[in-house]
Amino acid sequence: MKWKYPVVSPHPPIIHTALDGKRYAVGGGEWVELPDRVTKDTLHQWMVWSATLPKKNVPNDKVWEVKGSKGSTYTVSRKSGAWSCTCAGFKWRRDCKHMEAKKQECQNEDGK
Ligand SMILES: [Zn+2]
Repeated sequence: MKWKYPVVSPHPPIIHTALDGKRYAVGGGEWVELPDRVTKDTLHQWMVWSATLPKKNVPNDKVWEVKGSKGSTYTVSRKSGAWSCTCAGFKWRRDCKHMEAKKQECQNEDGK
């Protein structure tokens, strides 16, 4: 059997005691019934707040407006680590100078 805990909650989990005495970890719509032995200190074994988890190594999504040499504006975006640009060059080659310029910028930022 696969161990499905802890459940990851988008909100800080709390312990809720129901009228019948059952206890639940509650966070952002997720309810997990808790055994008696679980306390505030061991709650994280059952439910964790997503903000306390180590961040995955995927860069944040970002969108830039980039002015092209002929006066048009292109949109360069990075979603889940994948780059794209709205210019014709990117459409054909999956690569372009707008994107390259932003990649370079990002690398400089990360290298700080
Ligand atoms: Zn481009």
